[in-house]
Amino acid sequence: LPSRYAGSETSVWNEYIKLAAAYKPLNLGQGFPDYPPPSYVTDALKEVACSENNFLHQYTRGFGHPRLVNALSKLYSKLIGREINAQTEILTTLGAYEALFSSIIGHVDNNDEVIIIEPFFDCYEPIVLSAGGVPKFIPLRLKEVEGRLPTSADWVLDKNELEGLFNSKTKAIILNTPNNPLGKVFTLEELTHIADLCKKHNVLCISDEVYEWMVYKPNTHIRIATLPGMWERTITIGSAGKTFSVTGWKLGWAYGPENLLVNMQLVHQNSVYTGCTPIQEATAIAFEKELTRLGEDECFFVSLAKELEVKRDFMAKFLSDVGMKPTIPEGGYFMIADWSPLESKVDMSSETDKYKDYRFTKWMTKNVGLQGIPPSAFYSTVHKNLAENYVRYCFIKQDENLQKASDILHKWV
Ligand code: PMP
Ligand code: GLN
Repeated sequence: LPSRYAGSETSVWNEYIKLAAAYKPLNLGQGFPDYPPPSYVTDALKEVACSENNFLHQYTRGFGHPRLVNALSKLYSKLIGREINAQTEILTTLGAYEALFSSIIGHVDNNDEVIIIEPFFDCYEPIVLSAGGVPKFIPLRLKEVEGRLPTSADWVLDKNELEGLFNSKTKAIILNTPNNPLGKVFTLEELTHIADLCKKHNVLCISDEVYEWMVYKPNTHIRIATLPGMWERTITIGSAGKTFSVTGWKLGWAYGPENLLVNMQLVHQNSVYTGCTPIQEATAIAFEKELTRLGEDECFFVSLAKELEVKRDFMAKFLSDVGMKPTIPEGGYFMIADWSPLESKVDMSSETDKYKDYRFTKWMTKNVGLQGIPPSAFYSTVHKNLAENYVRYCFIKQDENLQKASDILHKWV
């Protein structure tokens, strides 16, 4: 194994998916809907699959299928408030994963520093390391709250600590809003602070916005690329898997200025070269439909967020009813909860993992029949202790299964 991969051998996903297959718990671990996507989306794929147009079954344009980049350009031009060139300012990728990979590998050089906000989607760190970069971590910290449950807005960055990380070696910052796993939706004030630092130190912003449509009232998703002077230095990343509840389609994209996109295209053209044609065509059809009803009640992006908000509230209630302390997420479809009030009911002596949240989640999977993800997977080694009292649960699940999760927990405590 090349040394640049040393330390990245384990993956919480591979480990916990295997564990779920072995113990068959109620699975609130890996994030994916356990119910079907909207039928017009699957119908689009059906139509494409049966199409006699041979071109829909052959290689498409390497940097993005024409119909899809046109739809993405229409959508994001509107949302960003500037004309986005479909040919030069968008790249479609194999999931948001590849967009993250291409943007990091395409910009980070040996010894470049990259600021990563904790908790972070776990692949950021190994990708930065494999580029030869040096990750610099800063944790969001929970403020003291009294008389109510915390929300993801109560998890904040220390401004001075953040400023202290920016220097002449800083190449990029990776932002994730709404954040996985906290659900934090960064506010205009927080984004402005980050943007000002990026501009002052000439730093690139890689903004992972895959949960852009899952934002709960009264919060709003702000795209950092829309802040003054930020378009020039931001790559924004999205995912069809999240947008249309089709995580298995593994289609993502990035948009930003041409001079940054060319660097990503270089990585893409010699690794993936071109994405899956039928999936891109079907996703284009789905976007074209949503473009006709953007912001209306019938718009899937609107109805999905409404549906998820109810699930979020249901989960927050049953977790707090059994004695955990959830952080109410403002966005995304995950919830973290402090399980330490239940510690006396857990006997994890048979579990050997270093971190308590791993021991807890494994013990729960095996003995209680409910799976969550250990959030220390989303922290650097030095900060993993900050997450040990927490578990992450996914709530984009059928009501019936959320009810089952509630029953399992009530029966256990
Ligand atoms: N970023 C975040 C924050 C995610 O939660 C995910 C989900 N796996 C991804 C990126 C990757 O998305 P995709 O499945 O489209 O590769
Ligand atoms: N984004 C999803 C999650 O956080 C899936 C991650 C994965 O499968 N690698 O659970």
